[in-house]
Amino acid sequence: MVHIPSYEDILQAAAQLKEVAHRTPVLSSRTLNQQLGAEVFFKCENFQRIGAFKFRGGYNALAQLNSEQRQRGVVAFSSGNHAQAVALAAQLFQVPATIIMPATAPAAKKAATLAYGARVIEYDRFTQDREQMAQEFVEKEGMTLIPPFSHPHVIAGQGTAVKELLETVPDMDVLLVPLGGGGLLSGSLLAAHALSPATAVYGVEPEGGNDAQQSLAQGQIVRVDYPNSIADGALTPALSPLTFSLIQQYAKGVLTVTDTQLIKTLQFFAERMKIVVEPTGCLGAAAALFGALPLQGKRVGVVVSGGNVDLTQYAQLLTT
Ligand SMILES: *Cc1c(COP(=O)(O)O)cnc(C)c1O
Repeated sequence: MVHIPSYEDILQAAAQLKEVAHRTPVLSSRTLNQQLGAEVFFKCENFQRIGAFKFRGGYNALAQLNSEQRQRGVVAFSSGNHAQAVALAAQLFQVPATIIMPATAPAAKKAATLAYGARVIEYDRFTQDREQMAQEFVEKEGMTLIPPFSHPHVIAGQGTAVKELLETVPDMDVLLVPLGGGGLLSGSLLAAHALSPATAVYGVEPEGGNDAQQSLAQGQIVRVDYPNSIADGALTPALSPLTFSLIQQYAKGVLTVTDTQLIKTLQFFAERMKIVVEPTGCLGAAAALFGALPLQGKRVGVVVSGGNVDLTQYAQLLTT
């Protein structure tokens, strides 16, 4: 039986995270508000520990383990923010962590994960199956797998960001949330449904990987096997049954944005708001800036999900 997360789980996660996670700032831009004729509130998870909201879910998942599970350690597969989230959470709980990363992952990401004390196992994207590798650690060494999005405690942890946002800024008309595998959106939906049921919540995914949009349209999970976008944190080929059912039940819809719009949004954040946001972190904001839906006269919440971007790539994107 899969445990379906509820708002109760988000409250528990918030209690776990209270002294450990940052309550990230909510920023706004007068210029943008004037331009759009709307009030936009950015929940800035690029200022979260490890530079992305994923710390919330990773920490909450580790917090629920019993002492035997903690002794045996955890395993995760990720080349991105989930790797660092699990590595830091494991360090805080003094739990051994094994992170399975592609051999081609950026050196900076591997170094950051190692610096949190995790063991990094590299795999070849083309010849090895990372899920199977992780499964072997689970079966042979008794480790607990911490999945990146399809897990009730991960979803509950991610939901604490929107809980904070809606406590800070109530009466939001619209909420725009970056969407990959749907852990962040699922948690956001549960938080919004409990705290502000009238808020219309949308997931925003890259046009070159619009599997969730297609899934909602067809009423079943659709895979996009080779998603193509600079939003590297949202290239998951498909939602899971758990995230799909929550999204189907509570989301108003799924919007898409192009890579060009993501780049312009990244530049807007740097130039106007003086903040570093990674391409995936720009998804929700790009939908607002480029009119993916009418916002005039509305109060709009936007989750800015992360700020981890390789400096060389960032410099290129700023001057594109
Ligand atoms: C993982 C990630 C996402 C997507 O989150 P899901 O829970 O997979 O939908 C969005 N933005 C950033 C910065 C991420 O790291």
